[in-house]
Amino acid sequence: MTRHSERADAQLTVDLDALTRNYRLLKSRIGGARCAAVVKADAYGLGMHEVVSALIRDGCDSFFVATLDEAMALRERVPGVFVGVFNGVTDAHHKVFKSQSLIPVINTLGQLATWRAQASGSPPHAAILHVDTGMCRLGLTSGEVALLADEPDRLNGVDVVLIMSHLACADDAEQPMNNAQREAFAEARKRLPAAPASLANSSGIFLGEAYHFDLVRPGAALYGINPTPGRPNPMAEVVRLRAKIIQVRDVDRPQTVGYGAAHRVSGPSRIATIPVGYADGLLRNLGGRGRAAIGEALVPIVGRVSMDLVTLDVTKLPATAARPGVMVDLIGGPLSLDSVAESAGTIGYEILTRLGQRLQRQYVGGGR
Ligand SMILES: *Cc1c(COP(=O)(O)O)cnc(C)c1O
Repeated sequence: MTRHSERADAQLTVDLDALTRNYRLLKSRIGGARCAAVVKADAYGLGMHEVVSALIRDGCDSFFVATLDEAMALRERVPGVFVGVFNGVTDAHHKVFKSQSLIPVINTLGQLATWRAQASGSPPHAAILHVDTGMCRLGLTSGEVALLADEPDRLNGVDVVLIMSHLACADDAEQPMNNAQREAFAEARKRLPAAPASLANSSGIFLGEAYHFDLVRPGAALYGINPTPGRPNPMAEVVRLRAKIIQVRDVDRPQTVGYGAAHRVSGPSRIATIPVGYADGLLRNLGGRGRAAIGEALVPIVGRVSMDLVTLDVTKLPATAARPGVMVDLIGGPLSLDSVAESAGTIGYEILTRLGQRLQRQYVGGGR
């Protein structure tokens, strides 16, 4: 376990036991399907190596990243596992894919041709075919799928290990688009060579068995984000951001707090200053909107969030409860990640991926 130095006034704790509990919970929901883990963007900001190591110890053997750099960083640390790369393969870099046994997600017929051109004379090249069923982002169009069905030679030398698509609205179970995409996916599969299939991200798992196919690709839910917004969060909390009060100011006359004099204090009050700011991922628009927790008591963030500091109005707490050295929760504990995201007008994904590099990180659990 990496210990926080005594100097650290702000601590980011990543609970790897909670992570693996989440992995097991997702697995328990998918019958016999395989549960991969999406670890792009440094495992949603939590630390790819620590996250991957913990998941491997828990039996996970398939991972997805977005970029080739991420895939190479992962491959360097873990030789044997399946690594799929969402953003596809280019002419310039196909050799790295091959030499490091990375599996490109083929998003266009051009990428397919690139990958296939390398396959001549060698064992078939493993590839994932991505068909677009409604995201209009990456993936083969229905026209391209039809062309592949008519000209199956385009797949010669390519070993299709997975056919995938991605849901646009999985976090809303009432959305008719979910079923429409599922049907479009089934249609596309009929026109392509038989191969295992994958449609569901975290929320897709909770849409039920019809969405599970052979492999699921959760990211967010592993890291504690609620995959079923509007319903209780079935996932365990993985991330906790806490910091010590470093100063408390007694205010006895009307004055303003912070940049832009954005907050005005009218009566006697106390303002506590915490050493976490937007450079640490505490989004600036939490100023005047967000909250922090001292014990179980919620206190408002007042004034603007600065780069390194944020101010709280702790007037309603006894002076002994809000004094320098006391720990304050900013994310996690009494303040769920999703509630912080809501206060900031964003989603938990953005909160996690913005967590700053300056924060001292403590990894707990994970079977090490
Ligand atoms: C990011 C991503 C996922 C994971 O989505 P979550 O909502 O975080 O579970 C799955 N599939 C694709 C293609 C992705 O880009």
